[in-house]
Amino acid sequence: MSYVDEVLEKVRAKNASEPEFLQAVEEVLNSLRPVIDANEEMYRKEALLERLCEPERQFKFRVPWVDDNGQVQVNTGYRVQFNSAIGPYKGGLRLHPSVNTGIIKFLGFEQIFKNSLTGLPIGGGKGGSDFDPKGKSDREVMAFCQSFMTELYRYIGADTDVPAGDIGTGAREIGYLYGQYKRIRGVYEGVLTGKGLSYGGSLARKEATGYGLLYMTKEMLKSNGIDIAGKTACVSGSGNVAIYAIEKAHELGAKVITCSDSTGWVYDPEGIDVALLKEVKEVNRARLTEYAAKRPSAEYHEGRGVWSVKCDIALPCATQNELLIDDAKQLVANGCTAVCEGANMPTTLDATKYLQDNGVYFVPGKAANAGGVATSALEMSQNSERLSWTFEEVDSKLQQIMINIFHNLDEAAKKYGLPGDYVSGANIAGFEKVVDAMLAQGVC
Ligand code: NDP
Repeated sequence: MSYVDEVLEKVRAKNASEPEFLQAVEEVLNSLRPVIDANEEMYRKEALLERLCEPERQFKFRVPWVDDNGQVQVNTGYRVQFNSAIGPYKGGLRLHPSVNTGIIKFLGFEQIFKNSLTGLPIGGGKGGSDFDPKGKSDREVMAFCQSFMTELYRYIGADTDVPAGDIGTGAREIGYLYGQYKRIRGVYEGVLTGKGLSYGGSLARKEATGYGLLYMTKEMLKSNGIDIAGKTACVSGSGNVAIYAIEKAHELGAKVITCSDSTGWVYDPEGIDVALLKEVKEVNRARLTEYAAKRPSAEYHEGRGVWSVKCDIALPCATQNELLIDDAKQLVANGCTAVCEGANMPTTLDATKYLQDNGVYFVPGKAANAGGVATSALEMSQNSERLSWTFEEVDSKLQQIMINIFHNLDEAAKKYGLPGDYVSGANIAGFEKVVDAMLAQGVC
């Protein structure tokens, strides 16, 4: 049995109740076969893959807080510190009822390779809670965040582990978390990223994941002789990543005609009105029905359906496993040219394979959405030097990072005889640096 198969078997046996984590490990290890097979003996002796698939440590903790009726509520908090071979752990905090150990481990595992791809010195981690900020008052969100940080603070720090936002964790939550950290530790340091501009945040961090996704998409299309201007795109989601992906797509001359949330989706043939979408989602924290009510050209549909709309480019920006095999078939039948993932693992394994087999350019999230964490690392740099860079400075570094990531993964795919396989290219390029550092640091 090959070393990859041996390790996959062990990982399946050990993590049977964590399907998302297994999905992420299978995708990564299968696509690394050419590299691992070539070094099989040494990697096996070093138990390199077993170490890579086992978090360095993970925490699970009680988060009690009091709601507006005086009732005590209890949530579960998580932080997985997966791999620190190339830098302090770095990865967001997800607040969503679906959060469990397996989801956090899948996200932390992906983060190792994504962070490595950025070329910046950041290791992989992730955290969160099954708390749902939706429908909660600001006071309730603050009570939760303060309780969450009262436990988390002992595991994090500017040089050890630097959390950030993710689904459900935006500027408001980061502010409350930061305030509590400062209060407990008595230090003013860059322990979180995605902070407000008045207390150490970076310009362009809010826009970075969505903008970065479009810089990557543009570069990938360009290298295949296609101009993004004039193309039609479908986006899913209507949160932080989706909003700024739509904004940048429009700036680059493409037209985005869909977006969605967890209850429904909008088809707007005139192109999504980003200012209105921001008002509905960022200011009013409302549903997409409000967007449709205020926009005569928009149709609102209940449930799923974004991928049934004819487009040149599909940008899934909501959550994991939201683009399924039937969606992939529909996209191909409608002549879609490219799928670039803004969310983490939004495309299932069979859907990814179908898209690739049918000639659709496919860039995985760990490369395409790396602009967020890259800019978080730029926020860390600014905090360390006690300086703030201009929007243009950060944005131009972000652009260059996304262009570099694309060329690195493109080269890695070509080097192993897999031209155009950006999934393998991203995994290989991310893996090589981490492995080099792990081997150099001995058994740890
Ligand atoms: P937000 O919470 O801002 O937005 C998430 C969007 O996806 C919302 O429109 C939400 O709808 C929708 N959504 C969430 N869960 C589900 C679900 N189970 N089914 C259907 N729709 C859902 O999160 P972000 O935009 O920050 O994150 C989106 C994705 O991008 C995630 O996969 C995240 O891990 C990834 N990502 C984010 C980065 C960042 O910088 N923010 C960086 C890199 C990756 P509703 O409001 O109705 O819940």
